[in-house]
Amino acid sequence: MDSATDRTPNAGTAATPETPDVLVIGGGPAGSTAAALLARKGWRVVVLEKARHPRFHIGESLLPMNMPILERLGVLEQVRAIGVLKLGADFPADDGNFNVFDFRRTMRGEPDYAFHVKREEFDQLLFEHARACGADARDGTKVDAVAFDADGAITVSAGEARFRPRYLLDASGRDAFLGGKLGLKRRNPKHASAAVFSHYRGVRRREGRDAGNVSIYRHEHGWIWLIPLRDGSMSVGAVCFPDSLKQRRGDSEGFLLRTLESVPDVAERMRGAERVAPVHVTGNYAYDCTRMHGRHWSLVGDAYSFVDPMFSSGVFLAMHSAEQAADMVDAALREPARERALQRDLQRRLDAGLDEFKWFIYRFTSPAMKHLFANPRNVWRVEEAVVSMLAGDVFDARPVLRRLRVFRAIYALTALGMAPRAWRAWRRRRRQLSVEVRGETLQRED
Ligand code: FAD
Repeated sequence: MDSATDRTPNAGTAATPETPDVLVIGGGPAGSTAAALLARKGWRVVVLEKARHPRFHIGESLLPMNMPILERLGVLEQVRAIGVLKLGADFPADDGNFNVFDFRRTMRGEPDYAFHVKREEFDQLLFEHARACGADARDGTKVDAVAFDADGAITVSAGEARFRPRYLLDASGRDAFLGGKLGLKRRNPKHASAAVFSHYRGVRRREGRDAGNVSIYRHEHGWIWLIPLRDGSMSVGAVCFPDSLKQRRGDSEGFLLRTLESVPDVAERMRGAERVAPVHVTGNYAYDCTRMHGRHWSLVGDAYSFVDPMFSSGVFLAMHSAEQAADMVDAALREPARERALQRDLQRRLDAGLDEFKWFIYRFTSPAMKHLFANPRNVWRVEEAVVSMLAGDVFDARPVLRRLRVFRAIYALTALGMAPRAWRAWRRRRRQLSVEVRGETLQRED
């Protein structure tokens, strides 16, 4: 790794491109994590972020399994300082009250907490940390082209600047830069969702130990989140099937408020609340890429796959995949002959964890799942396994995965027991999946 000792940046041009060991596209949680860890291993890393930090981003609620990653990165205490303590997730109960899935009840028992963060603060912190770890982190720099030579060389262009990295990591989030360029990105045929969201002040919080819970509710066309933030505001959003969002006809805030009103407990908690941020709308966002890797390149975080933020898993999955990818890239740079085997192994492990979340997400609005979440029972420690999944403990976690298989069997029996309702819900979902909102991207409506 002799090149790793020379950290002097040069101004890369078409004639003399910069030659970092690793180039990372995107300075969100995935990109900054991978950049920090690879730089710490001694590689010369450049990370390019198109926006300027601090910048708004949705995705404020973290998972307990994210905490060890923050600790290994060395930023846990800094995140604690900007976060709201999250001790559980609550879901509606049949009696009109709510059930708390408390993180003390995971199978491992710890970590038993997480945080909600404002992403402009969190992402900036991680980006600056990557820089402090030795990565050359440049914001306001958009990657606009990538070229692959027959000999495996990769050339990346960002405006006038040119780079010839030994390895390319795409962490460009839902832009899925490489997935788009290489035609790998495809709409998820099993799920479709869109979201409308904002921040409100004056929303009633839960009390005592539950004050930092993320609250999840179902509505007729999807689900709602309430996430308490440090400045006293609440992140409030509704996720819907894309076709139902079409009905808003330009009135996004009206649509959001009508959806919130349709759930009595949410309506009650929102009474008198005041909006303090723009209303954002994201169109259909469930997709994945047909491949995670190629010769000298990999996709991490949302650049590979995104389903639905139902269980607040996005940032954890992004940082987990980045941490694993950093180890894989480190090994592949040292022993290039092992690259393909290392990539295959990584994809297998990450896909397996992702599938655990997907299984729940695809069924979350079904009558059987509604019943099981409203009436949790810890038979054979199955409830603890579900709380573990909600905490993000789905990677290399055999005892959890075994109990989640039992949960699947209980789910099948429950669905069978309510067959006519389950069948109607399944048909409705199939119909909704066949409708797609095309070409709608993030919008702001003040
Ligand atoms: P990102 O955070 O999107 O970062 C990618 C970065 O790449 C961006 O900064 C972007 O500007 C940059 N970039 C893109 N293209 C280029 C380019 N060409 N050149 C240079 N830079 C580029 N997750 C949670 O954990 N908890 C939640 O509560 C949650 N709620 C969500 C609610 C909604 C409605 C949605 C849509 C998502 C939510 N998520 C949530 C998911 C979460 O936002 C993402 O999973 C997470 O941000 C992924 O991190 P990332 O680093 O992969 O991508």
